[in-house]
Formats: sequence, structure tokens, C-alpha cells
Amino acid sequence: RLPVRFNYNNRYFKDTWEGLPTDGYTAWMQRMIDDPRIHVSLGVDFFDESQPFNKRALAEAGVPVVYTGPVDRYFDYALGELKWRTVDFKEVRYEESDHFGCPVMNYSDADVPFTRAIEFKNFNPEREEVGGEASGEADFVPGKSVKAGETVVWQEYSRAATRDDEPYYPVNTDADKALYARYAELAAAEPRTVFGGRLGTYSYYDMHNVIDMALRAYESQVAPLLK
Ligand SMILES: Cc1cc2nc3c(=O)[nH]c(=O)nc-3n(C[C@H](O)[C@H](O)[C@H](O)COP(=O)(O)OP(=O)(O)OC[C@H]3O[C@@H](n4cnc5c(N)ncnc54)[C@H](O)[C@@H]3O)c2cc1C
Repeated sequence: RLPVRFNYNNRYFKDTWEGLPTDGYTAWMQRMIDDPRIHVSLGVDFFDESQPFNKRALAEAGVPVVYTGPVDRYFDYALGELKWRTVDFKEVRYEESDHFGCPVMNYSDADVPFTRAIEFKNFNPEREEVGGEASGEADFVPGKSVKAGETVVWQEYSRAATRDDEPYYPVNTDADKALYARYAELAAAEPRTVFGGRLGTYSYYDMHNVIDMALRAYESQVAPLLK
């Protein structure tokens, strides 16, 4: 998944354009679901039959479903488990305005236990720094300002995932690929359920890939189920 280069270009991506939604992904998502026809229930497990929107109940009612969880979990691991890596995050706070001078610092050294560290503040260099000598805390505007003299960094510790972990990156060995191909056959035969996203298709996607995939899946797979 990681790009390998034999030159001195230290950028992670090689896309012509890179960016984030102007107000961030949270605001983008909030605006997308701001419609009286959309109801969101958080903290609900699709496999928990004590809540009404579970796998069995929806299948029996013939309700179209877009399932974005792990494909092997959907079939109760009937063919075996697909392997994933997960990440443990450790938050570190510094009493500095800017720790790295960039949003992402990668660590490839064998003696550093984390693979990268994210300094969120630096994703938005356009935001005005407040709280220093020039201005007071009262000037802080969420989404427009950052605080002087403090910064938050998350270190990422990578390890093999168990069933209880959040699956992040598919390991994707030849054995995993062969196993996923068999799950994909089961998924294709599942009536009125569309398997979407990174977990439902055992793939790694960047945001622009997964948005593109969702839009295409709507046209080709979801819309026909709604007719
Ligand atoms: C650590 C990390 C860093 C990344 N960094 C970048 C980056 O810098 N740039 C970039 O472009 N992309 C990045 N990505 C990729 C991007 O985050 C993903 O491609 C995108 O979030 C995938 O969207 P998705 O809808 O497929 O999956 P998710 O966002 O994982 O959504 C799946 C949803 O299904 C829900 N779900 C699963 N099982 C159940 C269940 N049983 N019951 C109910 N709900 C369930 C989950 O709660 C979740 O809300 C990163 C990914 C990771 C893991």
C-alpha cells in the first residue's frame, strides 16, 4: 500500500491535487445527512438482534441494505477470517505552537515503535493563531483559529488486528485474496444487500476512491433495488 520511491521526493501522495473539505470531513458529513428523510442511529450493531435494524429482520422484510462492515463478519466467518492490521493511537500534547512544521511525519527507523505521527493543527495552515501575546482566548473561532503555545500529536502504532479491534488495513496476502474471492461470491449472491466501502470489499481506499466507489455503487447497485 505504501509508495516506494528511489528519489528524494518526500511527499506521500503523487496526486496532482491534494486537499480537505473546506470545513473538514465532519461538517461535510453533517451537511450530507441533514435531511428529514435520513435517520442516523449511532452505537447500533447490525448483528444485534435486540435492535430492530438487524441483519435477519431486514432480510426477512426484504429491505435493501448497504453493508459497510467486514465481509467475513457478515457471513459469520463461515469460510475463515480475513487478516487486517490495526493501529493504536497515542496522544501526545506539546506546549509549543508547532511541533513538526508539517501535518504528517513518517518514521521508517527500526528503533521507533510508531510508524507515523499526525499533528492535526498543521492540516490547516490558513487558520489564524490566537491566544498568544497578540490576541486573547476570546478571539478563538472554531474552524477558523488555532491556539498558540499548544499542539496535539497522535502517534500511530501498527499491529495485527484481532476480531475485537478496528480493522484498518487489509494484509492482502495471496491466501487473503483467494479467501476474499470466495466471500465476494457469497456477497454477490446475497439478495438486496450491497457490500460497500473498504471493509465490505476487503480493500484499502483513500477518501476520493471511496467517495467515487459509493457514487458508482449507488447508480449501479443501490438505485435498481429502490425501484
Ligand atoms: C488510519 C487511517 C488513516 C487514513 N488516512 C487517510 C488519508 O490520509 N487520506 C485519505 O484519503 N484516506 C485515508 N484513509 C482512508 C479513509 O479513511 C477510508 O477510505 C474511508 O474512511 C473508508 O470509508 P468506508 O465508508 O469504506 O469505511 P468506514 O469509514 O470505516 O465506515 C464503515 C462504517 O461501517 C460501520 N460498521 C461496521 N460494522 C458495523 C456493524 N456490525 N454494525 C453497524 N455499523 C457497522 C462502522 O462503524 C463505520 O461507521 C485512512 C484510513 C485509515 C484506517
